[in-house]
Amino acid sequence: MARPIYRTSARPLRRALERLYDGGMRLPRLDVGQLRFALHPASGRLYVTLAQTKRLGTIMRNGIFKPVEDITPTENATVLTVLDDILGAVKTLSAFTPSPKCAVCGIPLGHAIDRTRGIGDKCWRKGEFWRVEKRSSGAGTRSSKLAKRRKVRPK
Ligand SMILES: [Zn+2]
Repeated sequence: MARPIYRTSARPLRRALERLYDGGMRLPRLDVGQLRFALHPASGRLYVTLAQTKRLGTIMRNGIFKPVEDITPTENATVLTVLDDILGAVKTLSAFTPSPKCAVCGIPLGHAIDRTRGIGDKCWRKGEFWRVEKRSSGAGTRSSKLAKRRKVRPK
């Protein structure tokens, strides 16, 4: 019997990790607790591991998640839930961690805004992680407001 595969919306995450790679990070990845999503730059695939020891599967360039044979139903469900709103998961974990660290590079997060995001300012900017945020966050409204503000008065 063929193993099941799953459609995910991991594309924005992959693009963010690719931007970090282009910015000089050798092995870009994002940790959500024990879950790690690591970019394989040559193929554009994301490798999913648990606790840095167990491989859980691969996310292909087209966003399809192919789990390994011995993944448990709980592990499988967790990967899919996290991928559904990965920044939401990062934020939630950061909020409940006494000394939160950057989900990308692991540095301790000091500033309130970094703690809220769960990602340090440098990684957030280099990866342009705001592009990863769920589309339902009213991005359209915000950009039109910015466009108005950017209007330049003639001299
Ligand atoms: Zn970082």
